[in-house]
Amino acid sequence: MNSKKRLLTGLQPSGTLHIGNYFGALKPFVNLYKEYDSHLMVVDYHALTTMRDPGALRQNTIDVVKDYIASGVNPEEAIVFKQSDVPEHTELAWTFECLVTVPFLMQAHAYKDKVAKGLEANAGLFNYPMLMAADILLYDTEVVPVGEDQRQHVEYTREAATKFNNAYGETFTAPQEMILEGVGVVPGVDGKKMSKSYKNTIPLFGSTDDIEKAVMSIVTDSSGERPENVYAIHKLFRTDAELENIYTEHAGKYKNLKEILASDIEAVIAPMREKRASITDEIVAHVLKDGSERARERASRKMAEVRKKIGIFSV
Ligand code: ATP
Ligand code: MG
Repeated sequence: MNSKKRLLTGLQPSGTLHIGNYFGALKPFVNLYKEYDSHLMVVDYHALTTMRDPGALRQNTIDVVKDYIASGVNPEEAIVFKQSDVPEHTELAWTFECLVTVPFLMQAHAYKDKVAKGLEANAGLFNYPMLMAADILLYDTEVVPVGEDQRQHVEYTREAATKFNNAYGETFTAPQEMILEGVGVVPGVDGKKMSKSYKNTIPLFGSTDDIEKAVMSIVTDSSGERPENVYAIHKLFRTDAELENIYTEHAGKYKNLKEILASDIEAVIAPMREKRASITDEIVAHVLKDGSERARERASRKMAEVRKKIGIFSV
């Protein structure tokens, strides 16, 4: 029996991973995962809430696994898998959807933000928090490293666990979100939360050119000496004292400051990008096959317990 605490996080293959995903979720995972019994998912069914292109979904899914490994995850020391390989996720999500109310789900900020941004208000997007609850609770997860935008979804997960436990008896453990200070909401090039689906990202594994282009497109207002949107992203890469010097020396010179930021990002990304180039599709297939077998074993055991409790049986 593994006595380590259980840790789990997941990223959607809804586009190319960006530096917000890295600092908010992936890096905290990489820094911690060896101390825990760790699970890292590619949540492809979640991505279906915003994607309709099967080829892109397939490619993004493979790419995200490469991103995980290139960011420092050793698949032998964590269960790396994709959500769709474990059908118990969607099955348990349905069970939770039957326990929570529509008004409760209507309060979800992430849903409201996406609809306000013009994304389709489909029922999958609306029910998203219960699929996420299933992702987390199937593995008796105790710790969930995420960005600030997911805080409420982890609260919803606790609520789903409580509702189930009250209805059917103690079954699920209440998980805790882990949100690191200073990286909870990485802003995008428009100053709003960086999101794959908002097209305001700085790609994590972009080429030098991609990174430069994205940094040059950061929206600046010309009212002050310091371009706040540039500074907010720069804080991820340098200490306050270093930034103080740089932003004093180049006060008002937005182009220079953006060039410094681009080269600071490049310095962090370049070694990971090099590593990523050596990760083949065959390696990804092997990692996913092995990870899904291990995840399925755990999930099927938990789901058997759930089915028994709720009165679903096979003849
Ligand atoms: P989408 O627009 O499709 O929702 P996303 O960019 O928000 O994509 P997700 O896959 O939804 O990315 O989130 C993966 C993880 O990255 C989550 O833990 C989330 O909290 C974190 N995350 C996403 N965006 C940011 C951000 N701007 N700052 C910090 N963390 C973030
Ligand atoms: Mg998101």
